[in-house]
Amino acid sequence: MSATLVQGAYVVAGLFFILALAGLSRHETARRGNRLGIAGMAVALVATVLAATFGAGGSGWLGLLLILVAMAIGAAIGLDRARKVEMTGMPELIALLHSFVGLAAVLVGWNSSYEVAPYPTIHDIEVFVGVFIGAVTLTGSIVAFLKLSARIPSRPLMLPFRNWINLGALALFLVLTIVYVAVPEHAVFGRHALLGLVTLLALALGWHLVASIGGGDMPVVVSMLNSYSGWAAAAAGFLLSNDLLIITGALVGSSGAYLSYIMCRAMNRSFISVIAGGFGVEGGTTADDTDYGDHREITAEGVASLLSNASTVVITPGYGMAVAQAQYPVASLTKALRDKGVDVRFGIHPVAGRLPGHMNVLLAEAKVPYDIVLEMDEVNDDLAATDVVLVIGANDTVNPAAAEDPTSPIAGMPVLRVWEATDVVVFKRSMATGYAGVQNPLFFRDNTQMLFGDAKDRVEDILKAL
Ligand code: NDP
Repeated sequence: MSATLVQGAYVVAGLFFILALAGLSRHETARRGNRLGIAGMAVALVATVLAATFGAGGSGWLGLLLILVAMAIGAAIGLDRARKVEMTGMPELIALLHSFVGLAAVLVGWNSSYEVAPYPTIHDIEVFVGVFIGAVTLTGSIVAFLKLSARIPSRPLMLPFRNWINLGALALFLVLTIVYVAVPEHAVFGRHALLGLVTLLALALGWHLVASIGGGDMPVVVSMLNSYSGWAAAAAGFLLSNDLLIITGALVGSSGAYLSYIMCRAMNRSFISVIAGGFGVEGGTTADDTDYGDHREITAEGVASLLSNASTVVITPGYGMAVAQAQYPVASLTKALRDKGVDVRFGIHPVAGRLPGHMNVLLAEAKVPYDIVLEMDEVNDDLAATDVVLVIGANDTVNPAAAEDPTSPIAGMPVLRVWEATDVVVFKRSMATGYAGVQNPLFFRDNTQMLFGDAKDRVEDILKAL
């Protein structure tokens, strides 16, 4: 396959990826965006495989056979995982996949270190940067996977001088890069010892960076690792002289960084303070010991009667709706209320659930109309004039302490001000805290009533009682 044809295919694939990202940014066009992404990846795969087998210096039929066997094994594992994974398990699966990108970048970097390049200094820097970003992504993603899948506790690791450790590691990386570039090509052992050292340093840094970050900041960490994996792929693209990998890596890297920025803004936290870690520990007292008084309970029949008398209802779903798979009865409840003339809308917090857009995907799956699914900022000012708010399996994202208690570990995080509504019903199974491990004073407010039990069962009970 001619080099020009391959470059042409790469440009087409790159365009597909850009259109895919544009499509994925809105509900209505997300499916089309997904299809465009698949088409781009198909073009990229065919062009890359043909270039590697029948391009200049290609490996021929045997190479093609080996690649096809490897792809068949990978595709079988991928299909199996994609079929089995629950929506709630997506963040940890994504984190695990990012670790593979990191590992690939490390392996490409090491492999390239054996090559004789026309511009040795630039090549050496590329190798070092590629291995460094790849190794940070590898261990960082593994720790994120372990935390998100609850295989290790989500609380932050608080080593003394942890910020100095991170800064020291970065400084050491710079020094090692300069030494690596200065060591002559024939000093093979010395150069590999340096590369080994930087690999170990980056593996330790990636582990420490994510281990220092607490549960409340995990959404940002997932998108930050997404960004790292993009830059790791771009670095591998430079080493392999593969333009498409550079384009795709840069797209993933910059969109991941932008998403991290949007999420930081939504949580009123600076990106640096997220990276510095320790959220949920230094911020002040955890509210757990405070006596908030008693909570009130309500039955499904009671909620049905509240809803029958309401003219405006806002539903704020959270992670518990995903766990209970309550989106289908919630969609039926919405339809039943709208048929009676009740104005029903949804208020979605940017970090509700366990990954960006989690709630939107579930509600779209249950065919809730897009135009009544609003973002937090679009609905917050209307909550004071709302008759009933149904908080379905949400906790941290509706916690008034974030807005009212400056000593709360989640102080300053923008939340849905559900407590301003006339009546609030909270669906959950117990009085346990949410993901950030912080008590929620909302449950003890005079206008709040708790409806205990599995969210799906309780919504179905309300539907029966309506
Ligand atoms: P939370 O984790 O704060 O609360 C979920 C609530 O759902 C819990 O209080 C739980 O209470 C309840 N629940 C669980 N299962 C059920 C069930 N079957 N039926 C009824 N209720 C149930 O979720 P939020 O969505 O409000 O907040 C998201 C949190 O997750 C934030 O802290 C965010 O930072 C974090 N996070 C978000 C990510 C993202 O990208 N969106 C990624 C990683 C973390 P109980 O156990 O008593 O039932």
